[in-house]
Amino acid sequence: MGNHMEFTGGCVCGGTRYVLKSRPFGLGDCHCIDCRRSAGAPYVTWGSVPHADLVVTKGEPRKIAHADRIRSFAACCGTHLFFEGSRDSDTIDVTIASLDDPTPFAPQKAIWLEDKLPWVMLDESLPTFPRSSQTS
Ligand SMILES: [Zn+2]
Ligand SMILES: [Zn+2]
Repeated sequence: MGNHMEFTGGCVCGGTRYVLKSRPFGLGDCHCIDCRRSAGAPYVTWGSVPHADLVVTKGEPRKIAHADRIRSFAACCGTHLFFEGSRDSDTIDVTIASLDDPTPFAPQKAIWLEDKLPWVMLDESLPTFPRSSQTS
């Protein structure tokens, strides 16, 4: 493994593609209702990278502002790709499952347990949080 790792990903139809120039960190499952709806899935696994380390190489994500957050979806087919918590954030979150190889990026925490569906089984070995794991 070198210092110049790149991780590619994209939408379901192939019309939108991106490259991460660094390894995503802060890996976690978010059970909040907004992630659930946005992805059409019980929860979403996220990882963060510095803004500069995310490069869209094909297509153009469509940005949707909701609840003071910006979610980006592939304009071609609607795959949920990115999440920005605030305008001045240094990092951007990426849906780990949109990576070509999500295998190395197992979640390390589960957040927004307040909204978790009762039939989703949690990994008891991971830390959990009622809401965000951040103090801000
Ligand atoms: Zn969420
Ligand atoms: Zn697409």
